[in-house]
Amino acid sequence: MKKITSILFSVLMMFAATPVLAALNVFACEPEWASLVDELGGERVKTYSATTAFQDPHHIEARPSLIAKVRNADLVICSGAELETGWLPLLQRQSGNANVLPGATGYFEAAAMVERLDVHTQVDRSMGDVHASGNPHVHLDPRRILQIAKKLSARLIELDPQGEVIYQQRINDFKTRWQQSMKQWQQQAAPLKGKRIVVHHRDWVYLFDWLGVDIAGALEPKPGLPTTVGHLVNLKQSLAAKPAAMIVHTTYQSPRAANRLSQMTATPVVELPYTVGGSEEVKDLFGLFEITIKKMKDAL
Ligand SMILES: [Zn+2]
Repeated sequence: MKKITSILFSVLMMFAATPVLAALNVFACEPEWASLVDELGGERVKTYSATTAFQDPHHIEARPSLIAKVRNADLVICSGAELETGWLPLLQRQSGNANVLPGATGYFEAAAMVERLDVHTQVDRSMGDVHASGNPHVHLDPRRILQIAKKLSARLIELDPQGEVIYQQRINDFKTRWQQSMKQWQQQAAPLKGKRIVVHHRDWVYLFDWLGVDIAGALEPKPGLPTTVGHLVNLKQSLAAKPAAMIVHTTYQSPRAANRLSQMTATPVVELPYTVGGSEEVKDLFGLFEITIKKMKDAL
């Protein structure tokens, strides 16, 4: 009897020591969405990010390991607006997981949840790598993050109704903290308003729209195309007439073109964390905006 009791006890202890098993397996195309799912799902979700801040999300190889991850996912969350058009459809097709195909509850496209900028009614190859559905880099606007978070929370509840109370608590908590932070960021970023900044790629459209910053030009002559010497000379001329406060590039872009233009124009270069993990201090979405604004302000 004593023995049975002790066996029973150790079995019970084993259960007690086991952490709560996550209800949802989440595959995120980019770190920003993995981070948002973690905020809203806590222990009910197990997230995996297909890419890091040091990889260009426009160009990712559809590796077999990624296909396996999509096969086991309950939810696939990506930027959308054709950002992952070169790799995600392949992963979805090859995975054989019908629950995460476009249109299914298990597929969430962040850019589809918000109004997009840079929408072109007519797109042809001469325009470079632009998409009719607009600029996909929506995570760099905290207002849009909040809109996306609300839709995402509802989707998590749809996929995992048993966790509803937890998801509700977490979205309410996130909303409060996010709105407070947005006020602080806006105050901190006040000196950036009206400034002109050269970008490498138009990743920054949404952040600059929020902060009232003007894009003084892009190092890419056309979206997705590499810089040319002729293009840099043109940029130099336009900056001579109307100078820019800084040139920014992300962790996943080579700093070479930015440094070249910097030498030609004596404009400072700033490397910005494009997403979570893009610099050591950026551990979540809150850190992303805090550090991005700080780095830009320091360069003024
Ligand atoms: Zn892009």
